[in-house]
Amino acid sequence: MDLDHVTPDAPDGSPRLVGRPADEVLAAALASLNGAVVLTGAEHGFPGSSILWVNRGFEEMSGWRAEDALGRTPRVLLGTGTDRTIVDALRDELRAGREADGQIVAYRRDGEPFMMELKVAPVRAVPGVVTHFVAIATDVTEIRDHVELLERRAHTDPLTGLGNRRQLLLELGAVAAEQDPDRLGVLMIDVDRFKEVNDAYGHETGDEVLTEIARRIASVVRGHDVVVRWGGEEFCVLLPDVETDAEVMEVAERVRTAVGDSPIESRSGEIPVTVSVGAVRTSAEVAPPDLIGSADRALYAAKESGRNRVELSGAETNGWRSG
Ligand code: GH3
Ligand code: MG
Ligand code: MG
Repeated sequence: MDLDHVTPDAPDGSPRLVGRPADEVLAAALASLNGAVVLTGAEHGFPGSSILWVNRGFEEMSGWRAEDALGRTPRVLLGTGTDRTIVDALRDELRAGREADGQIVAYRRDGEPFMMELKVAPVRAVPGVVTHFVAIATDVTEIRDHVELLERRAHTDPLTGLGNRRQLLLELGAVAAEQDPDRLGVLMIDVDRFKEVNDAYGHETGDEVLTEIARRIASVVRGHDVVVRWGGEEFCVLLPDVETDAEVMEVAERVRTAVGDSPIESRSGEIPVTVSVGAVRTSAEVAPPDLIGSADRALYAAKESGRNRVELSGAETNGWRSG
């Protein structure tokens, strides 16, 4: 550090920079930053202007050596996966003389993509005139991956790998908002007398059976249906696009038979299990927020009337029954 610019008599006794530090000091300070720093001209805005200076952090992050980057533009970092609308928004902010920031997919010189958090500011080396842009960029790929992992975990049931209750409620909210809410269906599924499985074979075998039940349910629904573990030994299926009660019943019946038609192989041998299913479809009487409650009541009716059956909500009186 240039000691001409340090005064030892700051109030707390610590050294303090005064005046303008030498250019080498500034350059060394920027160079030693962990993130990437890029200085460009301002002739064609950002990111269209030539790179005038980069620090070592930029070389490490991008794979571009300083001497190769000079004279090119920051566009060398953009690629097919880059969200151009973010780049355009950034450019417009800077054109208006304001700072801008954003997160974009960027590409290393070897083509490897990474998630880059970027802050760019117009530099007015001459008062009132934007003469340069300075950008600070950080590779946030790991942070992004970690956040995604946490989000995935928050919506996943660790035993079966299915989504959990939170996942289903999110999906239900999303499809109710986006799609025709009159075409939604829900199946609530509860394993019959599951306590007896645990009592007879132990909890670990019980877990194995639950995992296989989950697999069987998932294997007979359609691609756009959402299967989750609702809790304990209950599962829930969201049918985002069903036109008729018969369609809902058909999926429910497939679920019932997929579980009940053949015993489950486990470490404790073959174990026969069945499920009861409550089914519901949106209608004049049942709005999307009521689906879960209605499916639950239908499930209760299915249990009451003997188990290993499907009951359609509100259909106790009009003959929709199976099993
Ligand atoms: P039914 O539903 O037919 O009325 O009888 P049930 O025996 O299944 O009764 P209930 O639904 O009340 O009991 C659920 C049982 O499921 C109780 C609990 O021991 C078991 N269970 C819940 N979660 C798990 C789990 O994660 N693993 C295992 N092994 N068992 C679980
Ligand atoms: Mg049960
Ligand atoms: Mg239960």
